[in-house]
Amino acid sequence: MELEFSEEAKDLKTSATTEINDRVMEKNKNGADIVNFTVGQPDFSLSEKSLQIACELMISAKGANKYSPVAGIPILRDLIKQKAKKEFAGGVFNKNLSEKNVFISAGGAKQAINMLLRLFLNPFDRVMIFSPYWVSYPEMVKMAGGEPIIFPLFSPSGPLPIIDFSRMEQVIKKLGVKIIILNSPTNPTGRIWREHELTTLGRLAINHNCLVISDEVYDHFVPNSTAYTPMSKIFVHNNFIPVNSFSKTYAMMGYRIGWVVAEQKVVQGLSVIQSQLSSGANTFGQMLAAVIMAECGDEIDIMKNNLEQRKKLVLSAFCNMKINFCRPEGAFYVFFQAPPRNGVINSIKFCAELEEAGVAMVPGEESGSPGWVRMCYAGDEQGLIKGLDRLKKFINQ
Ligand code: PMP
Repeated sequence: MELEFSEEAKDLKTSATTEINDRVMEKNKNGADIVNFTVGQPDFSLSEKSLQIACELMISAKGANKYSPVAGIPILRDLIKQKAKKEFAGGVFNKNLSEKNVFISAGGAKQAINMLLRLFLNPFDRVMIFSPYWVSYPEMVKMAGGEPIIFPLFSPSGPLPIIDFSRMEQVIKKLGVKIIILNSPTNPTGRIWREHELTTLGRLAINHNCLVISDEVYDHFVPNSTAYTPMSKIFVHNNFIPVNSFSKTYAMMGYRIGWVVAEQKVVQGLSVIQSQLSSGANTFGQMLAAVIMAECGDEIDIMKNNLEQRKKLVLSAFCNMKINFCRPEGAFYVFFQAPPRNGVINSIKFCAELEEAGVAMVPGEESGSPGWVRMCYAGDEQGLIKGLDRLKKFINQ
C-alpha cells in the first residue's frame, strides 16, 4: 500500500532552521568543517552547582520517575507566579495571581504557542504575524487550522521607519483577525517594540477583540542600556497572554520546558490539550528549571554579558565588510541583506554557496524576507571568529 499523508501534513513545511542545522550536524559528523550559525542556542553549559542540586533533588525524590501533574510541578509554577507578580502589570497579573495561573508546557515555548493556537482558533480564523518572523509561526497557525496573515514591518531594503498602525487596523477589521502574535525582542531582527508601539497595538487588540500571544523568550537578552518593556507590563486586560521558556534564558534548550501565564480558564484549557498531547513536562527538566530559577541568577548575567561581547565582534566585522544589516537591539541574531553576487541579491543561493564555503546560515525567505539572511551569534567565540573570516573571504571572492 502506498502510504498517503493527510492534506494538512503534505502542506506543512519543516522548520528551515532545524532542517539546515540537522544537515550541517550530519555533514560535520561525516568529516566536514562547517561553522554553524543557524539554530538559536546560546553556547553555555549549565553550572555544576545547579546540576548538582537538581540531581540531589531527583535522588531524594527516588528518581521522580512518575508522571508529573499536567500543568506542571507546584514549585515551578509558584516560582513563575512570583516572577509574574514582580514583573507584570495588573489584570490577571495582580496580587491575586496564583500558581493556578501558570501553565508549564512539555515542549518549550514552541509547544505552548501551538497549544494556545489550538485552544483559540476555529477553522480559517486569522492570525496576524509580523514579518520578518520566527520561521515557525505561519506553520503553527496552519497546523491549528488557522490562516496566517503576514503584516510586513520590513521592505526589501530593510526595516520600515514606522509601523503603519492605521493600515494594521484596516487589515484587522477587514479580515477579522482573531489573534496577533507579538515577539519582542524579535527573532530574526533583534527589534524591540517600543512602549508607545505596544500601547497602540494593545489598544487595537482590545478594540477589535483580538487575543495577543506575546512571545517573550528573548526577554533576558536585552542590553542594560536598552529600554525594553514586555507587553504584559503594560496591559491589564486578559486578552494578552505572555509565553516564555527556559530554553534561551537559562540555556536549557534540550529540556523543552516552556510556560504561559494566563487566567485560570486558559490554563485549564491548555491542560486539557496537553493531557492528550504529551501529559505533563518531564520531571527532571522542571526540577532543574526550578533550581536554576531560584538559585542561579548570576549565571544569566554572565551569559548575557558574554553575548554582548560576541555581538560587538560580529557587528564590527559586518561594518568592515560593508554589509547592510539590521542593528539588533535584543535576542542574539543579526539579520542582514545578502551581499549581491554578480550584481544579484539572492539569499537562498547566497546561503547555499556560503555553506559550501564552510558557514551555515538561514535564508530570510523562511522569515518572510527574501534577500535577507539570519545569523545566530550565540555560538562559541572561536567558531565566530573562524566563521566571520570565512564569510569575509567568501564575500570578497
Ligand atoms: N519563540 C521564538 C521567537 C524562538 O526564536 C524560539 C526558538 N528559536 C522559540 C519561541 C522556541 O523556544 P522553545 O525552545 O522554548 O520551544
